[in-house]
Amino acid sequence: MSCLMVERCGAVAFKSWEQNAIQVRMLADGRLNTGHAGVLLAERRGSYPLIDLRILKTSAQQGEVETVTRRKVKRLLSFQRYCHASRLLRGLVPHTPRSLHLLDDDYLGQAAHMLSKVGTWNFDIFLFDRLTNGNSLVTLMCHLFNVYDLIHHFQLDMVKLNRFLGMVQEDYHSQNPYHNAVHAADVTQAMYCYLREPKLAEHLSPLDIFLGLMAAAAHDVDHPGVNQPFLIKTRHHLASLYQNTSVLESHHWRSTVGMLRESGLLSHLPADMSRDIEQRLGSLILATDINRQNEFLMTFREHLDNQDLDLQLASHRHFILQIALKCADICNPCRVWELSRQWSERVCEEFYRQGDLEKKFDLEISPLCNQQSDSVPAIQIGFISYIVEPLFEEWHRFTEPSLLSQTMLDHLHKNKANWSSLRCAHTPSDVQGRSQAEEPEGEVGEGADIP
Ligand SMILES: [Zn+2]
Repeated sequence: MSCLMVERCGAVAFKSWEQNAIQVRMLADGRLNTGHAGVLLAERRGSYPLIDLRILKTSAQQGEVETVTRRKVKRLLSFQRYCHASRLLRGLVPHTPRSLHLLDDDYLGQAAHMLSKVGTWNFDIFLFDRLTNGNSLVTLMCHLFNVYDLIHHFQLDMVKLNRFLGMVQEDYHSQNPYHNAVHAADVTQAMYCYLREPKLAEHLSPLDIFLGLMAAAAHDVDHPGVNQPFLIKTRHHLASLYQNTSVLESHHWRSTVGMLRESGLLSHLPADMSRDIEQRLGSLILATDINRQNEFLMTFREHLDNQDLDLQLASHRHFILQIALKCADICNPCRVWELSRQWSERVCEEFYRQGDLEKKFDLEISPLCNQQSDSVPAIQIGFISYIVEPLFEEWHRFTEPSLLSQTMLDHLHKNKANWSSLRCAHTPSDVQGRSQAEEPEGEVGEGADIP
């Protein structure tokens, strides 16, 4: 129980972290005094201040951490603070998504029409999110649970399911340009496409499908919009909690477990089964740690070379689910250019924001986070060449013959060529502000054979 409490406490931490970052900025700008800060703090559920940057700032300016701040930090990290933050203990009904009845019938009709084509690769998740009034993740998950009859199969309580999905969606940070609930919905939609691959689909059990969708939906929950090295160098408490290893992924997983238990979604299942589900969710979410990319890629390649994957075996199916989730997580460059470009700009904007924070607090700017020297095309070309291409080539080998895999590789190559021509057209010194990348000349987005 105490572990769960720590995790949900961590979830609170990131929310407040951002709020306080804003406050620190406003205080520095003279736009906010400490009297107002309290008001801001009360806006979200019992959040506590940005301890790490405050300590850092104080240390840098005064040479030592003030004992008052230390005391505050101790108090704010306490479980009691968490208790105040808990929805249940505050007597609030857990969040349910904004109701669709607020939308015009026309919008609902269009969203329903889109759902009828949810298995197509050119599915526009940005449009779907607008049509569902920002509820793309909840709406998509409910639809897919119905498609697979998971509610009936696992005897799920609809109220609890809605509560759980609402909590997950809410705990994504909408202020993040990239790591937000729309990214989670996008990964879930991609995962659905992969689960339908003929090579895989016939072997999957309802539990495999349930885990694959749940892991995709929750894999980045409560992401703070900064990366692990940033958390380590700012001495964030989650970095020490997880000993500087898979810090974010561990937090996403443990937050998910916290929400599963808080919603009671699995409370009717035998204890060993819900424990197994929690563990397998962890194994899937932790596989998305990009630092473990080579480990997974080598094992995958070895299996394909030896042709020894046996999808009758639960352990082999689980491994393929891990690979499928990893592919879904980094599939942006395999989307049609118009969608792919938007994701690229969003992720780079998130990197640059981290770079701005690092600059502000006299920290070394992390790789890829310097807007002056790291252009969007350069970042994308590196990401595609070293991370995306090697994985999707193996995925293509596994799913062969697959129209979807071929389509994804076609998009990948075209998009890479587009970024190359944009890189040639712009040098880093041309970067002015954060405007959208221009359309490259020629063939973008044309001729793609969308399954
Ligand atoms: Zn992700």
